[in-house]
Amino acid sequence: MSSNVLAMEPARTLHHGSKPDRAEVEAAVRTIIRWSGDNPDREGLVETPTRVTRAFEEAFVGYAEDPAAILQKSFDEIEGYDEMIVLRGIRFESHCEHHMAPILGRAWVGYMPGDRVVGISKLARVVESFAKRLQIQEKLTAQIANTINEVLNPRGVGVVIRATHHCMTTRGVRKPDTDLVTSRMLGCFRDDPQLRREFLGETA
Ligand SMILES: [Zn+2]
Repeated sequence: MSSNVLAMEPARTLHHGSKPDRAEVEAAVRTIIRWSGDNPDREGLVETPTRVTRAFEEAFVGYAEDPAAILQKSFDEIEGYDEMIVLRGIRFESHCEHHMAPILGRAWVGYMPGDRVVGISKLARVVESFAKRLQIQEKLTAQIANTINEVLNPRGVGVVIRATHHCMTTRGVRKPDTDLVTSRMLGCFRDDPQLRREFLGETA
């Protein structure tokens, strides 16, 4: 997938077909329990479909959010501040779209402001709203950087993500000590090697 396609993808992902209701999702969880070989009606499992559905609701809350809207409120009274701004090590939990297994990681988000800055918590909220979806890390990294770039129009954006993927640490090839590092650099973060090094130094 080219970065162009990523940039054009709407921030709010559309549901395909009608959205199932909660009872349908709980029934699906009961089916998985039965298929596993256990009895969904025994005491320890009776509430499990409800709990799992609630957990998925939390895991995928990002589909109901519009990350671009989060960045709409910005400030221009910055007294000429024109140096790099970096929010470091933002913890997030996501789920991989191939196995629905957890992706646990941290994101470093930096930008060089134009004439506006955003409240720093907004940067973390943008990470959250893209993470709380079915994802691959490469796309998550690009979506965060592209959205900041498009909405805030800064001189540059850098995003680095380090994450462990449970689909390969606890299952599959079982390589527990691996993490995946991805980055996306735009504007002066891409063009200025010194700035890029300075930013990457913050992520070490
Ligand atoms: Zn996976």
